[in-house]
Amino acid sequence: MTSKVYITKTDKITPVKIKEILKKSQFIKQLKPDEKIAIKTNLLDVENKGFVSPKYMDKITELIESKNAKAELIDTNHIYHVENDTQYHYSNNIKQKIIDDSKNTDIKIDSKLLKKVIKSTEIDEYDKLIILTKFKPHYLIGLEGAIKTTGVDLNVKSGKIELYKQAAPFISKIGCLACKLCAQECPTKTITINSIAEIDYSGCIACNYCIRVCPTDAIKPNRIKTDLLNQAIAEYMKTITQNKDIIYINILNDIRADYEHTQIGDHKIVDDIGILMSQDPVALDQASYDIINQKPGNKSPELKTNYLPGEDKIAGLWRTIDAQQQLNIAEEEKLGTTQYELIHI
Ligand code: SF4
Ligand code: SF4
Repeated sequence: MTSKVYITKTDKITPVKIKEILKKSQFIKQLKPDEKIAIKTNLLDVENKGFVSPKYMDKITELIESKNAKAELIDTNHIYHVENDTQYHYSNNIKQKIIDDSKNTDIKIDSKLLKKVIKSTEIDEYDKLIILTKFKPHYLIGLEGAIKTTGVDLNVKSGKIELYKQAAPFISKIGCLACKLCAQECPTKTITINSIAEIDYSGCIACNYCIRVCPTDAIKPNRIKTDLLNQAIAEYMKTITQNKDIIYINILNDIRADYEHTQIGDHKIVDDIGILMSQDPVALDQASYDIINQKPGNKSPELKTNYLPGEDKIAGLWRTIDAQQQLNIAEEEKLGTTQYELIHI
């Protein structure tokens, strides 16, 4: 079985283009008056170029309201902020909500890895969801697309912590200068400095913030356990999205290495591609990944290998990451299929 993935013929990406592609979807055609539609976006860090700018939301909202349905922008708290952030950093007239941990419930599941999922009941207040992602490489699981946005970023903070704990970072014995920077910056103060830094995992929320601050790269992202992290993401996604009608959009422009987490460099790895859309998140991410790999890459200090057409650009950035793992696990968990038909519109 294949799923349909729509792609724009142009690599130009504007709010109007997103509105146009969305207008062609069954999702929009089937909207009913008074339905409440949540648009998952980035409300807390709007200047961050790694996310979709909220400026795209006005046109999407316009489209939803033309069907007499109601649109609301939603976001969740970041894992590395100890306090919940309730201040929206984006202001316009569209209704907005930060889903915090105040209305959490434990959902018991009988899955391969997890026995429960922490979910906010607030997500059930919406009839349908639009998941909008700026598709890009991710330093831990390889791809940040529809699956990562839904399986990780749509979760409340305590859910995210449960996920990332599957692959908490570790400190290499070689390279640590005992400079104390990580201990000072750790939001839960769970790093102690003896001859080298040591993490007390009972207090670690796996925010990976220490990786960013270490000047010697002695703190490593745990890429050995990404199979567990990807499995947990798939199980969370399956539970959170159960019985929900969702449309997924990936924006493939300005695709850079994951500078936010790794500071390895900030060059575009391929030229702009366009907008992709599907109701199947696995097919959408597979198509996005394949298209990036088919393109000639831009050789740079971070992409020193695998820049030729057909080569795996993610493995070129981080040779120990298997980006396909996330997609295969999501497919095994029946979140969608890696088989797709690309339709140019
Ligand atoms: S040890 Fe690192 S990953 Fe764990 S809570 Fe502290 S900063 Fe976050
Ligand atoms: S920041 Fe890096 S070098 Fe400094 S104490 Fe922590 S692990 Fe060691």
